[in-house]
Amino acid sequence: MGYSGFQIIKEAVFGQKGWKPLWRDPAPKPRYDAIIIGGGGHGLATAYYLAREHGMTNIAVLEKGHIGSGNIGRNTTIVRANYFLPGNQEFYSHSLKLWEGMERDLNYNVMHSQRGLINLFHSDGQRDAFVRRGNAMINQGDDAILLDRDNLRSHLPYLDFDNARFPIYGGLYHPRGGTARHDAVAWGYARAADQRGVDLIQNCEVTGIDIENGVVTGVQTTRGAIKARKVGIVTAGRSGQVAAMAGMRLPIESHVLQAFVTEGLKPVIDHVVSFGMGHFYISQSDKGGLVFGGDLDFYASYAARGNLPMAEHVMEAAMTLMPMIGKARVLRSWGGIMDMTPDGSPIIDTTPTKGLFIDCGWCYGGFKAVPASGFAFAHLMATGQPHATAAKFRLDRFRSGVGLMDEEGTGSQHNLH
Ligand SMILES: Cc1cc2nc3c(=O)[nH]c(=O)nc-3n(C[C@H](O)[C@H](O)[C@H](O)COP(=O)(O)OP(=O)(O)OC[C@H]3O[C@@H](n4cnc5c(N)ncnc54)[C@H](O)[C@@H]3O)c2cc1C
Repeated sequence: MGYSGFQIIKEAVFGQKGWKPLWRDPAPKPRYDAIIIGGGGHGLATAYYLAREHGMTNIAVLEKGHIGSGNIGRNTTIVRANYFLPGNQEFYSHSLKLWEGMERDLNYNVMHSQRGLINLFHSDGQRDAFVRRGNAMINQGDDAILLDRDNLRSHLPYLDFDNARFPIYGGLYHPRGGTARHDAVAWGYARAADQRGVDLIQNCEVTGIDIENGVVTGVQTTRGAIKARKVGIVTAGRSGQVAAMAGMRLPIESHVLQAFVTEGLKPVIDHVVSFGMGHFYISQSDKGGLVFGGDLDFYASYAARGNLPMAEHVMEAAMTLMPMIGKARVLRSWGGIMDMTPDGSPIIDTTPTKGLFIDCGWCYGGFKAVPASGFAFAHLMATGQPHATAAKFRLDRFRSGVGLMDEEGTGSQHNLH
């Protein structure tokens, strides 16, 4: 079904009865050319680009729950291209360009809002680091502006400039950064993939990966065995468990990340703001809720819910930075399972099993990566060759130590990125 102003007016006049489900609900076929395990943002985008760019339409996305039930529907919706290291830079730069054309591509309103993102700095050393990052972004062709304290104050007057625990020196402003409505991204890609013939099969958990003589032949699922010559694992926080079905031990730990939203308020925060001295970041949703979050909980877990110590830590950081937030009431909090790699950068690669591919390790930054990850993973699955923008996301860097991309410079520990 196409969307148009005419359709919306017609449905408004005739009682909204003409809308149809966004995608079909097919039964699994016995055989596909390719199977994608995981119906999150990355899996759906992969299926869409496999169909659109490579003409592969006899494919299925197998999702154990429902579309949008994973991290794609749980994140804090920030989209940016402010990476420093080669490898990450060109990839996220490509991703932001795909975001900028996404609504037209999918004919779906994902509410992409380039309201600008500001990273605050609180010391001379931090300012120098952000200057370098800003220069790297500009050299890559993206946008970055250094704001001094007075300039920053004109953008974010509600911060505590005079009495903060960590004095605010300024900020690195990335005007093309912003937010998008997360679940609309899943729905938009799902609908567009379905329209190109991709079968989206929900409530279908993959329980085994079939391999014969080192070659993948299909998967076992809760809805029966399905054969395929190519299988892609795109299961985010569950990547370690699914890869283990093929005998792989991934360099990944799964950790919980929480987020919070307040009651709806009148517009007060018109950028995405990230606090340089504590783990805290915030934006305001189009409905008015202040959406914010902080660091991982401090333990590895497969539970999609968090614990109180981190909630307290995040609230403290919020109050330190913008005391006015203390007047808002928190409506709810939630958690998601993050696939953390030792260097904080992702993996898009082949595996030792022929025909089996993997896309994972998105840590807590994989929402912004959805379009470019889908694009690059589809390229890899279709051609067997890495896409130029994702060529450095190799799995073997964790064995050899060559090509690690530690964007934060925090060392090789999963929960520090
Ligand atoms: C609180 C929070 C805030 C975040 N904020 C941001 C942000 O602001 N910006 C940003 O860029 N990123 C952010 N992220 C990270 C981002 O959401 C993730 O990196 C990204 O969504 C992961 O990719 P995905 O969408 O494909 O994952 P998911 O949506 O989790 O998709 C994986 C799917 O695989 C399915 N699956 C698992 N096992 C199986 C199986 N055996 N068989 C079949 N299906 C299976 C799952 O059910 C799931 O639907 C945040 C995450 C959280 C939790």
